Amino acid sequence: MLEARGAVRRLKEYHPPLGGRVGLRLDFNENTVGCSPRVLECLRRLEFDQLARYPERESVEGRVAAHLGVAPAGLLLTNGVDEAIHLICETYLEPGDEVLIVVPTFSMYEIYAGATGAQVITIPAGADFAYPTQEVLAHISPQTRLVAIANPNNPTGAVVPKSDLLHILRAATEAAVLVDEAYFDFYGESLLAEVASFTNLFVARTFSKAYGLAGLRIGVLVGDAAQMAMVRRVGSPYNVNAVGLACLPEALGDQDYVRQYVAEVRQGRELLEQELRSLTLRFWPSQANFVLVRIGERHTAFVDAMRERGILVRDRSRDPGCDGCVRISVGSNAQTRQLIPALREAARLVAAAGVSA
Ligand code: PMP
Repeated sequence: MLEARGAVRRLKEYHPPLGGRVGLRLDFNENTVGCSPRVLECLRRLEFDQLARYPERESVEGRVAAHLGVAPAGLLLTNGVDEAIHLICETYLEPGDEVLIVVPTFSMYEIYAGATGAQVITIPAGADFAYPTQEVLAHISPQTRLVAIANPNNPTGAVVPKSDLLHILRAATEAAVLVDEAYFDFYGESLLAEVASFTNLFVARTFSKAYGLAGLRIGVLVGDAAQMAMVRRVGSPYNVNAVGLACLPEALGDQDYVRQYVAEVRQGRELLEQELRSLTLRFWPSQANFVLVRIGERHTAFVDAMRERGILVRDRSRDPGCDGCVRISVGSNAQTRQLIPALREAARLVAAAGVSA
């Protein structure tokens, strides 16, 4: 009988909802109002010839490289950061290699790394989900072939100081160090400029969050040119489709749109955090477009109560160290005005039911 590889059979299943998400989507950290109108105009102008050809990526990669201020030879557009992670794992990992991740974090590192047969070593985050740099350094060995770091982290919104990242880069010389900056736009600090100095550094960015293009699946991976030549060997030449490639320059061209959305998210994050403080709910200050909140035992009832009020939020209570926690994404100002009263009601409902139970 046909059997999947052992490493694949041992993988945990990851089940994000793939349908039925009705309401205000504060569950997936997406842009909640959509992309720049310039992208929609571009979609309407697409010609059949653009769909009939295989996608041509070169000029768009040049445009993105110029935008990021990096050399085009060190840049690869990917099918979301998800694919960037997959390609790094395929390029550098073999069975028996070690991968370091600090948990809780984004699930796909463990999945793609685990699928190669590498051993994924999970190190728990410190107090308040602080990145345990000393423990990570202590775990680095010649077998360490990948250190994956989401900065800001998902689901906590916590960040790693640049000096700590540089320590890790200097210590893990035999490893790819992937700094996943999917939430960069909401934070503002980056390691991109260091790519020129470290041949083991890879930085990933996405157009799924601030740019509102999660459905088009476009990410970027930047690294040392010689390393990226290796990464390209395992990638499909057509991993990013022609529609995405046509739209991307328009999305990049409308920086006002991104700035405005990011400003609203930052204001909303502040308002949400204020509200959580006044509800005396435990939360962790975030540098991303979401906030992790500890609701307690009645986290499922809270998520249901929010859904009844038309708002989707994500139960993260099964993540390591996240007992009773729910993650709430932040959208536009108008959406934050819709979120706050619903949150107040749902929190009170859950607290009251907890008292009488
Ligand atoms: N990295 C992190 C830390 C994320 O939270 C996400 C999205 N949930 C991704 C990568 C995936 O992004 P993309 O849509 O570009 O695949």
